[in-house]
Amino acid sequence: MCMVCRMSPCHPRCPNAPDPPAAFHCHDCGEPIYPGDEYARVDGVEYCEGCIDNYPLCVLIPLLGGEWKTVQEGESIKCAGCDEELPVGTEYGIVDGSILCEECIDEIPYCDLVTRMNWDWNTASEEDIYDGYDG
Ligand SMILES: [Zn+2]
Ligand SMILES: [Zn+2]
Ligand SMILES: [Zn+2]
Repeated sequence: MCMVCRMSPCHPRCPNAPDPPAAFHCHDCGEPIYPGDEYARVDGVEYCEGCIDNYPLCVLIPLLGGEWKTVQEGESIKCAGCDEELPVGTEYGIVDGSILCEECIDEIPYCDLVTRMNWDWNTASEEDIYDGYDG
């Protein structure tokens, strides 16, 4: 029995209580990713859903291996999603070889965006915890 909370196993709020086992830790914020949490695996490292959600597109798209660009003077750039000609100075992304405007990328759920760019979008499971120990 624990000497602090006098429970066995410890009460979850007892300082002696072990942290619940995490499947992964987010490469960016370091927060644990628990079984049941969704996460992205990009280039061999895990990112929590919160980080992927919070990245602005100009960060997220290059992270996923795409390009983030601005329409330059004299360029004629057309969005493959909405078929609109993008005015000079507009930012756009190149996703899986397609030019997409910010609005069109915004409409893609990030789980689809991640898989479309050939990375994994998974839900962590109990088995991932043991994989961690096997290394
Ligand atoms: Zn305790
Ligand atoms: Zn994170
Ligand atoms: Zn568009």
